[in-house]
Formats: sequence, structure tokens, C-alpha cells
Amino acid sequence: MREGGGRGDARVMGRPRRVGGAAVARRDEEVEQTPGHAGGENSATPTKETSTGSAAPAPVTGATPFRAIGDVPLDIWVSELARRGSPIDDPAGCAAATRGFGALALAQAIRETGLGRSGAADVRNALGLMWPDGGMPLRFKRWVDGFAAWRRRLTDLSYKGGIYAPADLPLADFVAVYVGGPDCRTSGLARCANGETRASIGRYRDDIVRLINGWRRGDAAGPPDAGSAANGAGNAPAARDDPPAMVERIIPPGQNTAWDDLGPRVIRGVCLHRMLGTLDGTDAWFRGGGRAAARTDFGIGDGRIFQWTPLTGRMAPWASGPANDVEGDGVAFVRRYGIAAVNRDLVSIEVAGHYDTPIPAADWARLVELVAWIAAAWLQVDAATWPRNREGMHAVYGHFEFAAKPCPGPALLGRVTALIDDVGARLRG
Ligand SMILES: [Zn+2]
Repeated sequence: MREGGGRGDARVMGRPRRVGGAAVARRDEEVEQTPGHAGGENSATPTKETSTGSAAPAPVTGATPFRAIGDVPLDIWVSELARRGSPIDDPAGCAAATRGFGALALAQAIRETGLGRSGAADVRNALGLMWPDGGMPLRFKRWVDGFAAWRRRLTDLSYKGGIYAPADLPLADFVAVYVGGPDCRTSGLARCANGETRASIGRYRDDIVRLINGWRRGDAAGPPDAGSAANGAGNAPAARDDPPAMVERIIPPGQNTAWDDLGPRVIRGVCLHRMLGTLDGTDAWFRGGGRAAARTDFGIGDGRIFQWTPLTGRMAPWASGPANDVEGDGVAFVRRYGIAAVNRDLVSIEVAGHYDTPIPAADWARLVELVAWIAAAWLQVDAATWPRNREGMHAVYGHFEFAAKPCPGPALLGRVTALIDDVGARLRG
């Protein structure tokens, strides 16, 4: 997700269903590169083929130069893809496309997307790669193309001004740059993009190290991955951080222009809305009549969740502002983070129906799941901190606290305490 400042989550990066408008040329440029096409043979690659089958090599640590980690045998790729139910269909191709870096590629693809399971299938971006400017996730024609693009970045010592230099960059520094952006590394993990923190980057690095060392030792099982809800063995936070089932309806930035670049998004809370309509109607509105007027992050209706805007990158949707009538906890929020943070740093969630429409049980369940996931994965708080974020600020707002309208209205506002309680129970879960 990656490199931020310009994130993945992946992690929970947004995953566009399709691309359109001006972005197409740039995307195709990346997409049409094939393994070894541009930079793949870069001289900076100390392709040391690590043997994993013979005498046990020294364990990898955060201090290990990431370019010296090497490959894993093809049967590890095959078994991990099978074991994790991956949609990636070409293990030999992906191993070849990442030659010299195969162990890191496989470990990162597990950590980023559960080997392609947590993103939209038609994006085929197992490593959560973002545009070099950080705005949006990349989309590839084949899974192998995403792996090849990843390797090109790592082998290009001048990529983005040399963010992956020098040639002996330690793994821990590589992870900081890949996950939290170059400033994250240079600031000693103090200022990370993409909503990442020192703790989240440490967990990412530790997961990668465990996976790679596990393969080197010949262990069958690594830690749970990003896409796994079922693998609860020994890693409750990772399991809890899994996103709820949602429909990828990311609207390309050119198709709906109701957003601003207010800098990288840093998720600090949620803001609740009602749609004054249906989920499908709102989805159509954002792509049609309202394409220059309104956009939000998530919509809930008919027991479904749609995601319209990535939580990573730089698109701040015109959702919860314009902060022209700030009241309640909104005053403290704006004072602390500034007006730009209202649309940029609050996850806007719309629930189908009107201000006084009761919320059906299925929609309520989705709302609790979604907010709990944001609390765990993005705010990175536990039940003891919730409903505040890690900086002690309230994490749940209503649109009325920032704008001269009654949104989300009495039906949802009357249940905010219940929402906070239900989310807290899930976080304790
Ligand atoms: Zn609203």
C-alpha cells in the first residue's frame, strides 16, 4: 500500500473495480510492463540465490539487508498458495518474476493481501502496490505483473529518488519505507503515512521475519495472514483486524471529482451519515448526477457494505465537511487536527434510509463490524481506549457536528451509545 505519503494496507487500500479517465494511460503503462522489461535486470540486484533446503542459513532479522534474503523453493510458493486458498494462478511465474527476492515477495503478499484474497480479484495486486505518487492502488492484468512491478521498484536504486537505497538497506528500514513511506524511515518511525504507526510497522516487520524464518527452518505453518479470518492460531490481533465482507465499489478519481487532495489520509475516527435514500441509489448518484457534488467512504444498506473511496492515498471525499457549523465534539476535533482533517481523516459511513428511518438488524450488524474493524485496524485501539483514538480524541462523530444539517438524524443518533457498546464488545471479543 504502499510507500505512502504518497499506503496499502493495503493495506486496506482501496481496490478499484475498474479504471477510467486520465488514469488509464498511466496504469496501462505500468500494467503492460512484463517481468524483466524495465529495470528488472537492474545491476543493483545482488541476486544471491539463498538455498533454503540445505544447511540452515542464519535467521533473518530486521538488520538483515533485504536484498540478501533471497528466494524460497517453488514448492513453498505452491504450498502457501494452496494452504491459504489464494486466487493466484501462476506460482512459477510469480517466483520467476521476483527472482532473488522471492522470500520477501511471498511473505509480503501474505501480509498485504493474504496472497490476493483480501483485494478485489480483478485488481490482481497481491503486494498492495500504490501509484508512485501514492494516490491509488495499481491494477494489473495478471498477478505476475504485480510481482514484477514490485521487483522493479526494489531493484531500482533511483526509484522515487532512492527511497530503497542503499543497496544494503536493512529489512527493517525497507519495511518502514514500503509500509509507511520514506518519512517514516527517516523520522525513526515517528511520522508514518497511511495511518501506520511504530507499532503497526513493527508487527508487519515481525510477521515477515517469522514467515521467512519459518520457511528456512522448514516449518509448515507461518503466522496468520492478512486475509484470514479462520486462522486464529496465536494471533488474535491479526484475526480481529480482518475487514468485514464488503463490496468493492471504489469510484475512480476522475469518475467522481467530489474530493480534494488534502495530503495523505490519516484515519482518526468515523463520521456517521444517513443516505436519505438507498445503497444502490447512492452508488448510482455518486457515479452520475452527484459525481461533482458528493462522495463518501462507505455505504451500508440491505445488509451490504460498499466501499467507494480508499482509506489510503490522498483523496479526501466531500463527505463530512464543509465544517461551516462545528459543534459538540467536532469543536475539539477541528481544533486539534484542523478543518482539512474532517473529510481527510474521518471515515465517512452512510447508512441507508432517512433521518428517522429505523436501522434494520442486518445493517446494524454491518455497521458494528465496519466500525470495529476501523477501530482495530486503522485507529489501532483496544476496548479500553475505545471510543477514543490513540491521541485521546473522540473517534465517533455525527455529520451535524461539522455541518449545518441534522445528519445522521434521530434514528441513528439515538443508537450511538449502543454502537459504541457493541463495537467495544467486539474489540474485547
Ligand atoms: Zn451527512
